Amino acid sequence: MSIVCKFGGSSLASSEQFYKVKDIIESNPDRRYIIPSAPGKTKKGDQKVTDLLILLYNMTVHHLSTSEVMAMIRARYREIIDGIGIEFDLDRELDKILADISGDRVRKAYVLSRGEYLNGKILAAYLGFDFIDAADVIAFDGDGQWDAETSYKALEAMASEHEYAVIPGFYGATPSGKIVTFSRGGSDLSGSIVARGVNAELYENWTDVSGLLAVDPGIVEHPKKIRHITYQELRELSYSGAKVMHDEAMFPVIEKNIPVVIRNTNAKDDEGSCIMADAPHDEDDGDITGIACRKDFDVINIEKLRMNRDLGFHRKVLSVLEANDIYLEHMPSSIDSISLVIASKYLKNKTDQLIAELQTFTSADRITVDHNITLITVVGRTMKNKIGMSARIFTALANASINIRVIIQGASEMNIIVGVADSEADRAIRAIYEATC
Ligand code: ASP
Repeated sequence: MSIVCKFGGSSLASSEQFYKVKDIIESNPDRRYIIPSAPGKTKKGDQKVTDLLILLYNMTVHHLSTSEVMAMIRARYREIIDGIGIEFDLDRELDKILADISGDRVRKAYVLSRGEYLNGKILAAYLGFDFIDAADVIAFDGDGQWDAETSYKALEAMASEHEYAVIPGFYGATPSGKIVTFSRGGSDLSGSIVARGVNAELYENWTDVSGLLAVDPGIVEHPKKIRHITYQELRELSYSGAKVMHDEAMFPVIEKNIPVVIRNTNAKDDEGSCIMADAPHDEDDGDITGIACRKDFDVINIEKLRMNRDLGFHRKVLSVLEANDIYLEHMPSSIDSISLVIASKYLKNKTDQLIAELQTFTSADRITVDHNITLITVVGRTMKNKIGMSARIFTALANASINIRVIIQGASEMNIIVGVADSEADRAIRAIYEATC
């Protein structure tokens, strides 16, 4: 049996956290392949090492002195190494990084990846595991796209030679050896790729919370914990704004049906949340799995009598969006109107021009815009078979005197999305939570 464990930045932020991680790994000999993040924050106001590395990169590019930021990075690793008491030539490692970035063509991905690289080397030495550079097993193609097939092959070969190994998260390399990183939080994805590549039975994602909560605890006090959730539900929730895991992280494990457990390094005996294909549902799990939200959307409403008879109408609207590089989030419609739900960041300074182009192309009767809309997504795999779920959500919002601006239900009937004014979003979420959880 083999278990892949990813430890996030907060789990490896200090020597004290390293002790806990070692204890967790050594308590189960099946925990064979370990994916570390770079050291995260040790306390509020502290800096993540990856953020310090971004600063280091920016200073290098602008030919500013890097000595202060380098000293901060050195101090973070020094505390860890001295605290866990291992022999590790930190100065040599940091000198190498400095030498590498002093050239003219310093690459941002290389600099950013060093946080995970160093933490991986230190953790491997501490555990007595082999260190495998992610550059050798996580493959990207020449265009910087992650190459699944090559990565899985390399990982399979690695597993046949190394029984226990630490593989840093967040990065890999192209065939010519150029380092490429995933987007921020990408160690979750590295862990998932390794789990799939080594054919693990389980992927444990260790973090600083005891599993997933049904809703942001900053909005609803002490929300219920999600014990079981499907891959698809998790993807919906993380895409819809829940701070869970990297939203791409589910793809590799879905293919092999490898369960993922989210657990707490600071409370190692807590049960955590389990993500799987066929998640069981107990009566006391409630009628929905979770609620998430994303703020700052605009809704462009286009009205035109007999729109349903205007062949190609939707195509014309979509062509205008495409020509302006605007991503569309949703497009609810009725016979004589459609609404375009778009993240406000895509419309910055473009709204007037876009409306003019839509008017020219579609000869609409009226085009209006609602700004500052929050999309609230209610996710639940059992909603499909439950009569009256939407009635409960809409009644709760009506009772709280909240005006619903848009309603969307996905084809899977696993989610219901409502758009409300940003200023009413928290109240709306509390009302929906009370009515459904
Ligand atoms: N260290 C990287 C970040 O802060 C990647 C990760 O932690 O997953 O985004």
